[in-house]
Amino acid sequence: MSTTDLMTLSAGETADLVRDKGWPRFHTHQILRWLYQHRVTDVEAMTDLSKAVRMQLSAETRISALPPVETLTSEDGTQKFIFHLEDGKAVESVLIPNTSSRENDRLTLCLSTQVGCTLDCAFCLTGRMGLLRNLKAHEIVGQVLAVQRGLAPGLRLTNLVLMGMGEPLANADAVEEAVRRLTNQPWGVGLSPRRITLSTAGLTSRLTRVAKMGVNLAVSLNATTNEQRDRLMPAVNKAYPLQALMKACRAFPLKPHRRMTFEYVLLRDENDSAQDAARLVKLIRGMRCKINLIPFNEFPGSPFRRPADETVLRFQAIVTKNGVDAYIRKSKGRDILGACGQLGTLSESLPLIPVPQRCSTA
Ligand code: SAH
Repeated sequence: MSTTDLMTLSAGETADLVRDKGWPRFHTHQILRWLYQHRVTDVEAMTDLSKAVRMQLSAETRISALPPVETLTSEDGTQKFIFHLEDGKAVESVLIPNTSSRENDRLTLCLSTQVGCTLDCAFCLTGRMGLLRNLKAHEIVGQVLAVQRGLAPGLRLTNLVLMGMGEPLANADAVEEAVRRLTNQPWGVGLSPRRITLSTAGLTSRLTRVAKMGVNLAVSLNATTNEQRDRLMPAVNKAYPLQALMKACRAFPLKPHRRMTFEYVLLRDENDSAQDAARLVKLIRGMRCKINLIPFNEFPGSPFRRPADETVLRFQAIVTKNGVDAYIRKSKGRDILGACGQLGTLSESLPLIPVPQRCSTA
């Protein structure tokens, strides 16, 4: 008889299983708490269930886990975990300690939501892999549970960012289910939604899903004209041009005391001029937001370059002078290809996607 993986079940499906077995209803929360709060991988560890229930569960179910097959540690303390999924495909998560000097005890995990990516952003390594497949909810949550299991006693993940491999809103159902398990207080991982940030390249029609999840929204803008954005982020900008995206962002129901983030990857001589900065300010005028400037992280074969530090500072100065907070994201883990846009396989068999030229008529 094939066994059911308990991690693949939603809370409702776990309740169904408990009901079908004729067990008391409170067993549902007990089982879920063992999975998401104690992170056990063996039914035998569920010691508040009777021996008989445990025996039956062990016989008919299993608990999948995502043990990291490889961990790379950067000079700056960032760690990249490579996980093998049950079908042999791999995804990566990045653990980033102390992302802000104000909050020294912050421990952020950057999660993947797809193997590869639906989109084709020209500056992103993951984009070159194409989409191999969407992750299931339990594979998204599994990254969190696996990393938390490996942390020293007393250490806890405090923040999650859905900014690893993939476009989270292209896999919105699984992401939504993962967020439910990560934020549920009575039986789930119990993180506050305000500690979770979802980053999208701009799947505009699905921003309402982010609002429904209650997590923070980050939008990867990266360009200030359609011409530029078509070149840098062709698939998403063709589907949702800049004006439509900005309109939806302005309509996004921000909760009190929260603001949205716009990410802006700075590419030398592409989108890093003073004019670009001025256009950016104009685009976001009056919005409750901040800007994260990400100087491009280079990877082998990438056609783009990182701007000089002075250019980055000049860009930041123009934005902040106009009253918008702009932070330069210190890219961590670059030596282990763990920084933004560096996740993915550097396989030689992957074709390099030619970057559309500025004057292309295509
Ligand atoms: N698909 C989502 C989340 C993954 S990308 C999104 O686009 O937001 C996470 C962030 O990394 C995005 O802001 C993206 O623009 C940025 N990024 C991608 N490649 C990069 C690179 N090579 N250097 C710096 N940032 C990069």
